Amino acid sequence: DRLIAAAPQTGEPPIDYAIRPRRLADYIGQPAVREQLDIFISAARNRGESLDHTLVFGPPGLGKTTLAHIIAAEMQVDLKSTSGPVLERPGDLAAMLTNLQPGDVLFIDEIHRLSPVVEEVLYPAMEDFQLDIMIGDGPAARSIKLDLPRFTLVGATTRAGLLTSPLRDRFGIVQRLEFYNLAELTEIVARSARLLEIEADREGAAEIARRARGTPRIANRLLRRVRDFAEVRGNGFLDASIADQALNLLHVDSHGLDHMDRRLLLAMIEKFEGGPVGVDSLAAAISEERDTIEDVIEPYLIQQGFMMRTARGRVVTQQAHLHFGFDAERYPPI
Ligand code: ADP
Repeated sequence: DRLIAAAPQTGEPPIDYAIRPRRLADYIGQPAVREQLDIFISAARNRGESLDHTLVFGPPGLGKTTLAHIIAAEMQVDLKSTSGPVLERPGDLAAMLTNLQPGDVLFIDEIHRLSPVVEEVLYPAMEDFQLDIMIGDGPAARSIKLDLPRFTLVGATTRAGLLTSPLRDRFGIVQRLEFYNLAELTEIVARSARLLEIEADREGAAEIARRARGTPRIANRLLRRVRDFAEVRGNGFLDASIADQALNLLHVDSHGLDHMDRRLLLAMIEKFEGGPVGVDSLAAAISEERDTIEDVIEPYLIQQGFMMRTARGRVVTQQAHLHFGFDAERYPPI
């Protein structure tokens, strides 16, 4: 597993109770999302209604699941949690729906991965709070209709573009999470350090934040690894120097790039003269799967301006050359 992977790693608890923010006021960053949800939640509560169905989208590790739990906490209701791939058959969703108490939040992670037959059951449930499902096969099959309590569906997805439009249209509230900036991420690291009783100063927290790829999950993971280093190699105190040493040892560089990122960029610079190069040639050059390059390595490098995807292939930018200390003059800016 990559230390800087944005998705949860094997062995990592899916919910980190010690540091996960529980209330909207503890949720750092995402000011627009926070302000809007604060209004929608207060309004719904004042009217004694449940919150409208809410879709949260954005890259992994930015706080979608956290937000779903916060919505339930602020609405003072329970949250029942499932995910698109787990709901294989209509009956799986029916079981979840019939288990809800009035007002409950039903959280469906990876909602873009619902199968079409399951999605069909979700439409009337979202719109009319009706369960409409066929049970049995052949001549014995019959359809059952049931009234459901009013509930709030919170759907999370990394790929809003993959949602069918009938599903998307049934969400009254749609929120998009952005990568966190350095100040916000520093605050997240400082907060987590406090809760985990790690002694740290502002610069130490900032050094971790700088290398965490705009992603709280990565920041929190790096914090735990730096703590180990600080306890064994230092006196337990986490400052910028300890953070820097620890992250260098872990091969996470000053921009949060790891060996996979560096291998890709260096191959482009050294073997393909900066590109353009096709993704298949690149995959062969660094012995990685094409999908790994496209889904795992490349998005952050493109987002950070280290490389670009063009019609003729991948190209590294001047920024990548400078990052590795290459003479940018050798390769004219693109
Ligand atoms: P996602 O569901 O988008 O993959 P999570 O909600 O599981 O992400 O968040 C990953 C981790 O990052 C959580 O353990 C949480 O503690 C932390 N986190 C996420 N967003 C925030 C935030 N806005 N403020 C503080 N911590 C956050």
